[in-house]
Amino acid sequence: MKADHVVLRAAEEQALRLRQMGYTTEDVVGTEDHLAMFATTEAIAAYHSAETLEQDLRQLAESKPEIAELREIGRSLEDRPIWALRIGERQVSEHKLLFMGCHHAREWVSVEVPYLLAEHLVNNAGQPHVRQWLQRGEIWVSPIVNPDGHEFSRTQDRLWRKNRRTNIDGSIGLDPNRNYGYMWGTLNISTSSHVPSDPTYVGPRAFSEPETQAVRNLVASELFRGIITYHSFSQLILYPWGYTSQPIPDASDLSTMTKLAKRMQQLIRGVHGMTYTPQQSSQLYLTAGDTTDWTYGEYGIPSFTIELRPDSVEHGGFILSPEQIEPTFEENLPAAMEFIKRIL
Ligand SMILES: [Zn+2]
Repeated sequence: MKADHVVLRAAEEQALRLRQMGYTTEDVVGTEDHLAMFATTEAIAAYHSAETLEQDLRQLAESKPEIAELREIGRSLEDRPIWALRIGERQVSEHKLLFMGCHHAREWVSVEVPYLLAEHLVNNAGQPHVRQWLQRGEIWVSPIVNPDGHEFSRTQDRLWRKNRRTNIDGSIGLDPNRNYGYMWGTLNISTSSHVPSDPTYVGPRAFSEPETQAVRNLVASELFRGIITYHSFSQLILYPWGYTSQPIPDASDLSTMTKLAKRMQQLIRGVHGMTYTPQQSSQLYLTAGDTTDWTYGEYGIPSFTIELRPDSVEHGGFILSPEQIEPTFEENLPAAMEFIKRIL
């Protein structure tokens, strides 16, 4: 989304009020289409729920117990397990990578891409290059970091973003991707807000939530060498910083991340011709307390946020039709493989 406009949901009288305040409004999606986009039965069936994800991850682990193990890394506020599949031979190794999805509830495709990656690695564990990786190190995949929000998005409000915390003012939810502990809370703007009812509410303090605590504890114990966290939408490959428009000061790290981002862009484009633009995270908009600022700022881990399909609200925004799950995964697979090859 571009910096000079904002996409929101509003009733007609709210839109009128915005116009009276001097803003220009434009209907991106008409009311009829908007209603039609709400979780259709087919879409609900095609995308994982927290429950079906658990079943599928368990099945993957059981299919190859010598290389795959399902771990509960924490529990959400509503006591749902947060899962990670550890893939690799059980050798002591410092070569570990982490792929995550679904910090934001409505970003359903961000569950499917890491899940399908896990499935691909387990099913292709016998292929020479995959085998080499799994002997050398471990790949961890946690497709739903925010299971409560995700469930709420499936059953109540398709466009729900946050977790399900009841805030001090009675509003619900904070943004898990603003709750990490590096430069947490240093901004108070619409994209990183201290107002509890805002969609980007940062929370009362860093790591106030069990969901972000689970990731914090996992990263602290496994010391990953690289992290990719999937989101949607807008087709971007983002690297730190998010909290400032200054580049990261370490020239070597900056070069590693910008080169890898460009390479991933080429690989993604090579599959179905889609463009995912590499850029510093703050170029999208400023955010303090996001996942990658923390993993890089605290641990120096090369870290990327990949914003998946589609490229725009006009192409559906958060609502991606189920036929696009597979091509979105297909185009992201070689980029993930390259990331593994270079960083593991
Ligand atoms: Zn997101």
